[in-house]
Amino acid sequence: MRTVAEHQRIVADLISARPPMTLPLTEAEALVLTADVVATLSLPGFDNSAMDGYAVLADDVATASAENPVKLPVAEDIPAGRTDALTLHPGTAHRIMTGAPLPAGATAVVPVEATDGSTETVEIRAAAPPGRHIRRAGEDVVAGTTVLQAGQPVTPAALGLAAALGIGTLAVRPRLRVLVMSTGTELVAPGTPLQPGQIYESNAVMLAAAVREAGAEVVASPMAGDDVDEFRAALETHLGDSDLIITTGGVSAGAYEVVKDALGGQVDFAKVAMQPGMPQGAGFVRVGGPAGERSVPIITLPGNPVSALVSFEVFIRTPLRAAMDLPHPARRQLRAVLTEACTSPGGKRQFRRGVLDRATGTVTSYGPPASHHLRWLASANCLLEIPEEITDIEAGTAVRVWDLDGD
Ligand code: AMP
Ligand code: MG
Repeated sequence: MRTVAEHQRIVADLISARPPMTLPLTEAEALVLTADVVATLSLPGFDNSAMDGYAVLADDVATASAENPVKLPVAEDIPAGRTDALTLHPGTAHRIMTGAPLPAGATAVVPVEATDGSTETVEIRAAAPPGRHIRRAGEDVVAGTTVLQAGQPVTPAALGLAAALGIGTLAVRPRLRVLVMSTGTELVAPGTPLQPGQIYESNAVMLAAAVREAGAEVVASPMAGDDVDEFRAALETHLGDSDLIITTGGVSAGAYEVVKDALGGQVDFAKVAMQPGMPQGAGFVRVGGPAGERSVPIITLPGNPVSALVSFEVFIRTPLRAAMDLPHPARRQLRAVLTEACTSPGGKRQFRRGVLDRATGTVTSYGPPASHHLRWLASANCLLEIPEEITDIEAGTAVRVWDLDGD
């Protein structure tokens, strides 16, 4: 049997990055920059008011107080967005709004709260030293500065900064495009009636969500029955320009193993020493298309829903994220103290579902270890990893835990 570490390496070697692309801001969200971003503008782009109030000469209001207000005629009204060039003459004020361009000659802004708010002759009730409530051009960013660096993720704030600088596209490492395919003649789509012997298909929606949660894109998530021609046809139909194919089911030791039957020779099928998730496969499929034949990496996961999702976590999620340069590609792993005794099959690495209590640093195994108990996985917050050589593990032992909440 192949070890978990060996199969992790084989899968990681299959998954490669796409070349950098220049994408519109909305599509670059949450990706990682592949080039520095240099400001071509300064921010602010011009001196402007930090308050709603009155642009004045500081000297004109130097003596102003509530008891001895200074009265100034209001010569202009400057809302944000006014584009004509204005000059403030000594002995006058301009009413000005936050973000509006400061008139030439003005040396301070008096907030509206320190005035009577008049639009004709304003009563200024407080002095404003030179520079008060003025945002200077270039105070935030000076044109020519590198404001974001290659390797930084495109966070909401990074998008905001790029937009503020008038930058509409970013060079990023693009998302991998993943085709998720379920197999099984017994499967029917949720929402349709079940015949005896049929079950609802659950891997497609689950793995598609896992792929997206990992930061990649789902091309399609169809299902096919256990028929080689049907499987092949579905693959060709939905492949599009996928960078990776993930299938579930049809890879174990029985008859009607459609994925094995269809892809023997192209995919290396192996037993991996783990529970759940023993039957695995990885390789390349040659698929035709309008652009000619090409090879696409494929990872074939077992069909049991728990095996499928645990296998995705153990083998695919980390290299998938790494191929997109995403920060923290692997789940956070930590050691936690087991609250009760557990058993594990000898010679296999066991991944139990667990509930991690971060406050106490303890972990409790959650539900049976078998691979069809999806209910427990849905409410677990960690995977509890028990090494191959261990068969009995005492309460109070520290075990390795994969924290499934976040990175
Ligand atoms: P297989 O690996 O195809 O032999 O499937 C193993 C078990 O997982 C069987 O009980 C299948 O019915 C079940 N199974 C396979 N694929 C799915 C799926 N997409 N959704 C729900 N159960 C599945
Ligand atoms: Mg099957």
